[in-house]
Amino acid sequence: MTSTLPSSFSAATDSPTVVPETVVPESAPLPVSLRIRQRLDAAGVPYLANDNIAEQLRDGEMDQLEIEVAGKVRELLRSLVIDIDNDHNTEETAERVARMYLHEVFKGRYHHQPKIASFPNVKKLDEIYTVGPISIRSACSHHLVPILGNCWIGIKPGDRVIGLSKFSRVADWVFSRPHIQEEAVMILADEIERLCKPQGLAILVKAQHYCMKWRGVKEPQTSMVNSVVRGDFRHDPSLKAEFFELVKQQESMLGT
Ligand SMILES: [Zn+2]
Repeated sequence: MTSTLPSSFSAATDSPTVVPETVVPESAPLPVSLRIRQRLDAAGVPYLANDNIAEQLRDGEMDQLEIEVAGKVRELLRSLVIDIDNDHNTEETAERVARMYLHEVFKGRYHHQPKIASFPNVKKLDEIYTVGPISIRSACSHHLVPILGNCWIGIKPGDRVIGLSKFSRVADWVFSRPHIQEEAVMILADEIERLCKPQGLAILVKAQHYCMKWRGVKEPQTSMVNSVVRGDFRHDPSLKAEFFELVKQQESMLGT
């Protein structure tokens, strides 16, 4: 008795000569990515490129994913007609790329959110402040090439506050996924609201997209700027203007 992995092969065929390449013994374990996807489907948990799935991963599965992804990258390199068996430069590229995706550039999909403690706003601070520039590193969902830039976060505190460095940590975690910039900013805003429930929140992102610089239209100078404003920043135009003024001052401190 055998089973097939995703294949268009029809079991109804009578022909004894048709043997699909993907036939595996029933006892063979399913690829770990398939097991995880089945679990996510059963739980109704989305796993789009910019979703985090850490809650659904079990012990040891990241190591198994690393092996599976490396195998696929090896096949990709072979399909690109690269002689990885004799090329000393690409010999271990598959393993490096697998580690890079799972633990570095896309870690925000697989790793838990960094531990971020919030504290009561004892002094009832309600003046706005901004933090930035925070470096952001992401990749576009369409081509998986880098998006690099800066982000500024404006806060009008609510009942809880978090340390300044924590904004960098949560931004790094959110941006370390394949994204489109518009959604990345919304997801970061949702996470910050969850962490400290500010009365007002503003985020500005300025980024360069390598799918425009490196390929496609090849526009090296073009950048994308977008923002999200919530709570008091949304309702009070003077507060919103103050945020953008503070960002301008922070930018001038960079001397660029
Ligand atoms: Zn792209």
